Amino acid sequence: MSSNSIETLRKETLEANLEIVRQGLVLYTFGNASGISRADGVIAIKPSGVAYEKLRPEDMVLTDLEGKVLEGWARPSSDLPTHVALYKAFPNIGGVVHTHSEFATAWAQARKPIPCLGTTHADYFHGPVPVTAALEPHEIESEYERNTGEVICRTFANLNPDAVPAVLVASHAPFCWGPTPADAAYIAAILEYVARMAYYTIRLSAEIPPVGRQLHDKHYLRKHGSGAYYGQPRKD
Ligand SMILES: [Zn+2]
Repeated sequence: MSSNSIETLRKETLEANLEIVRQGLVLYTFGNASGISRADGVIAIKPSGVAYEKLRPEDMVLTDLEGKVLEGWARPSSDLPTHVALYKAFPNIGGVVHTHSEFATAWAQARKPIPCLGTTHADYFHGPVPVTAALEPHEIESEYERNTGEVICRTFANLNPDAVPAVLVASHAPFCWGPTPADAAYIAAILEYVARMAYYTIRLSAEIPPVGRQLHDKHYLRKHGSGAYYGQPRKD
């Protein structure tokens, strides 16, 4: 593995872990971020149960693509098998973030997908944010974290994870992802904002329908894909 790219991976993963704290998405240690270098076959993830304010790049635990620890003084986050399942199933993603942010978690606990009620949602998610099925007792009993990943993957059997970069795990909380750990952290913050606004919107008007396909497509597609024209042209 290249030491430069691994150093970058450690720093980007640490930064995503710190960002979810700065954005108010994490209480104590209820969250974790990871990143992957597909070229090196290495995942970096937060160590389990370590206070965020003490984290350094060298504290990130490095594992292979099966979640076997390669380097690290501490145990990896216990949610590592969920992150591994997502990296395996979603080939374009480079970062995964899990939080128990308040409003997104409320939707997950209510076991309701977040409907697209306005253009803020439509700008980032090309459809409702889905909720998984509940885990079966045998899926909770053993390999719980891996089975959490599997139920997310089943939820996306007919969905594009690049166009809907988040999910609500039923009775648990959200997982978000993106091309980099920073993108995944950003989506986690946007998801919380969208979840809060959807909650307030439904409080104000319980029967309000989701936005129509035309407005949803207009907002999503002006920011994403070949016809995008929002913001400045990408230089890369
Ligand atoms: Zn959790």
